[in-house]
Amino acid sequence: MNDVVVVGGGHNGLVAAAYLARAGLSVLVLERRAEAGGAAVSFRAFDSVDVRLSRYSYLVSLLPRKIVKDLGLNVELRRRRISSYTPVGTGGLLVDTEDATSLGAESEAWQRFYAMTASVAERVFPTLTEPLPSKDSLRALVDDDYAWSVLFEQPLSEVIESTFTDDTVRGVVLTDALIGTFASADDPLLRQNRCFLYHVIGNGTGDWDVPVGGMGAVTGELARVAVAAGAQIVTGAEVTSIDPSGEVTYRIGDEERTVAGGHILANVSPHSLAVLLGGPPAAQPEGAQLKVNMVLRKLPRLKDGSVNPRDAFAGTFHINEGYQQLAAAYAEAESGRIPSLPPCEIYCHSLTDPSILGPAEQAAGMQTLTLFGLHMPARLFRADNETAREEALRATLKSLNSVLDESIEDCIVPGCIEAKTPVDLQKELRLPGGHIFHGDLSWPYADEGHEGTWGVETAHERVLLCGAGARRGGGVSGIPGHNAAMKVLRSR
Ligand SMILES: Cc1cc2nc3c(=O)[nH]c(=O)nc-3n(C[C@H](O)[C@H](O)[C@H](O)COP(=O)(O)OP(=O)(O)OC[C@H]3O[C@@H](n4cnc5c(N)ncnc54)[C@H](O)[C@@H]3O)c2cc1C
Repeated sequence: MNDVVVVGGGHNGLVAAAYLARAGLSVLVLERRAEAGGAAVSFRAFDSVDVRLSRYSYLVSLLPRKIVKDLGLNVELRRRRISSYTPVGTGGLLVDTEDATSLGAESEAWQRFYAMTASVAERVFPTLTEPLPSKDSLRALVDDDYAWSVLFEQPLSEVIESTFTDDTVRGVVLTDALIGTFASADDPLLRQNRCFLYHVIGNGTGDWDVPVGGMGAVTGELARVAVAAGAQIVTGAEVTSIDPSGEVTYRIGDEERTVAGGHILANVSPHSLAVLLGGPPAAQPEGAQLKVNMVLRKLPRLKDGSVNPRDAFAGTFHINEGYQQLAAAYAEAESGRIPSLPPCEIYCHSLTDPSILGPAEQAAGMQTLTLFGLHMPARLFRADNETAREEALRATLKSLNSVLDESIEDCIVPGCIEAKTPVDLQKELRLPGGHIFHGDLSWPYADEGHEGTWGVETAHERVLLCGAGARRGGGVSGIPGHNAAMKVLRSR
């Protein structure tokens, strides 16, 4: 019998395995895919070029320095000087982290708003790797009634509309609330607020950094550390059922096997866990993005001649993500149509870190482009994924071309483009409904009566969540993996 069986070898499962093995526990990780890492992997997606793309997730903000230090991880996260660029007509808005005046008339409001989120970040982020505080104690820690009210209680639309007047600036702020989250700015459920919160609190700054070597370098390092500490990682092992008593059944090829664990840590989504436990099916969440990976011969020319494409593409490049455009795209998707001008954001990893390109590709000046399209809910793809994927990709490239001075198709290395819909992500990664966070993000405080828990507990004492679907999960953070490990270690 193992002390712990981890179901799923995503980056969170690896974090949990590393902590537990380093504490001397016997740990078995069962991963259904051929390699560990889940949505945090690098992949040579195109045979014709030696380029290892971060195929799904690509930037890191939420991985606490504490986890990097505790586990002795050798990862380099590189800061981007240009935070974002948004083309507007034949000009554009460049947000340079070293130039406070780059936002013109909105500079002062921007500074004030992000000083407020930075203060919240400094206070809230360290709590994410501790037992859950109550709502009241988190509010007392934030110690700013205005910040609490606009971030935690009122739809984000209210603070955006009362703080900023410019539609482009409003849109840039709102996009952080809509990553993988199908909601409007004024959604009364506040899903957009929770998504926004996690986008601005990472490591107390909200900076999004480039993992040098790609996302696979982060996961590879986690696997190395877990194995060095004695954890066993078995790939190609699909778990088919979990018994709350601690028995796990899995399949390798045609062979069915059973193992027992003192604790079972589920790196799978809460939706998958319910199925594996044989309980009543839980409601399936819905992801809402189109991910496109491309390798370019060269960066395209921009309509805005005043900005160097190397600056524009180095940060997050917003396309048709004005506040009104986001609302229009949401309304179209909500009524069952692929948005006619899909809002999306792109970024070029290889400008900050060319190490993911082979030597010939570097010498030829190739670049990678990652595109993350918003408001593409799974419902649009369920009936006919192939046809809808083609339509969504066509509309998205048209949207991208609307800000370029030459067509993106002319810059792509022939054959080097792939698109992933929520339905594709469900199939490839078992993300429920293609939801990139395993479900809508949760507030970083406990429900009443659950203060002091770790946000990983389930109805079964031996079974814990250790993935993105735990409270304070979502993103490449390792936080739920850390918290599940702490729950196990402190219960011994
Ligand atoms: C397109 C995309 C872009 C994203 N961009 C970013 C980004 O830039 N930055 C960021 O911070 N986050 C991003 N995210 C979100 C982030 O990648 C995820 O929230 C995070 O990877 C979740 O990690 P995890 O370990 O909890 O789960 P997962 O990565 O989902 O791993 C779960 C693992 O469990 C395995 N598994 C599932 N079922 C079984 C079974 N029955 N038996 C055995 N194994 C099983 C899966 O194969 C998988 O390896 C993105 C996600 C996607 C999809």
